[in-house]
Amino acid sequence: MPVNRILPDEGLAVRLMDDLAILAEPSFKEYKTTKYITAFLEKIGISPSHIFETGCYGTLDFGAEKTVAFRADIDALPANPEKTEYRHLCGHHHNMTALLLLLEAVQRSEAKPKVNIRYIFQPAEEIVSGAKFMIEKGCLEGVDCIFAAHAENEIPMGKSAVKSGPCMAGSHHIAVTFTGKATHAAMPHLGNDAVTAAADYVTKAQMIVSRLKDPTLPGLISFGSIHGGSADNIIPEKVELKGTFRYFHTEVKAVIEKGLKSLAVSIEELYGVKIELEIKDGTHPVLNDPSLAAFICDLADAESLPRVPYDKLTLGGEDFSEYVKLVKGVFLWTGANEKGNHPPLHSGDFYVPMPTVTASANMWIKLAYGIDKYFV
Ligand SMILES: [Zn+2]
Ligand SMILES: [Zn+2]
Repeated sequence: MPVNRILPDEGLAVRLMDDLAILAEPSFKEYKTTKYITAFLEKIGISPSHIFETGCYGTLDFGAEKTVAFRADIDALPANPEKTEYRHLCGHHHNMTALLLLLEAVQRSEAKPKVNIRYIFQPAEEIVSGAKFMIEKGCLEGVDCIFAAHAENEIPMGKSAVKSGPCMAGSHHIAVTFTGKATHAAMPHLGNDAVTAAADYVTKAQMIVSRLKDPTLPGLISFGSIHGGSADNIIPEKVELKGTFRYFHTEVKAVIEKGLKSLAVSIEELYGVKIELEIKDGTHPVLNDPSLAAFICDLADAESLPRVPYDKLTLGGEDFSEYVKLVKGVFLWTGANEKGNHPPLHSGDFYVPMPTVTASANMWIKLAYGIDKYFV
């Protein structure tokens, strides 16, 4: 069969999507999902060399000089506040299905790619830990470049979009504890007011991004959790604050970190409270390799795969960044916007239409069979 006639199996795509949707499991608890993937691979004659409690990877070795990795993340998100139900609200069943369809198409076809294919089914992307885990387990050994596809709600259904260079933000966690001295709400001067100190911290933190960093470079600080106190007339001893900051450039990261620390010192002094500030690493920015991004765009055009020019940054984070810190790679969007106002990623209504899945699989097939030209 000529290479350009190798297509994803659309019936199989529906079955995989349905089955994986039902299995949806939390980060690092993707037991059934992993079993399903490995069973499917065995069925099509593939034995992963590395199978973990959750996640697996392996190689289709065609004796080629170069090895190209495709990564699919496999975890789901809680669909209710009690976390008793999980669903693929980030479309990771799409990511898995596209990769499984690629592997199935390669197995079924007589023509084989001129590169080796490393397949990586990664757990725990949503808690940005799975990529590090898989890298520690050796999934990048011998890999020359890496790709991942993700559904996107703002891009028209079935069209792919490749952003060259910075693509997704660096994302880090902020935890701040304010310890003051409890007092009667009517006598604040007899205590040290942790509530007002925390409120001031939240507000002034916005000045770091609006006044201290270069305004032409993106950066963001958001607080999503604040807790303290139990009565309307008692100023409590303790207030806890949690948030996140995002950036694309290391100089912005440095400004934000320095700003958060300086702010803690000045607020401590003003209110007489003690502040413990913890900044925890989350993900680094996803930086798409420009030459690989250009190659994919040219390949898509040559193969008549629909795509849209795309230059939009998102301040969402992705632990795909861990891979592209070590090898060249591209994180590719596939449009899921079916009717013009598609529900956003992570929302309860988010879904991935089937044309999005087949478009991603088609892109992977064309890339697997065409990427050798990139290395020439
Ligand atoms: Zn997500
Ligand atoms: Zn995701």
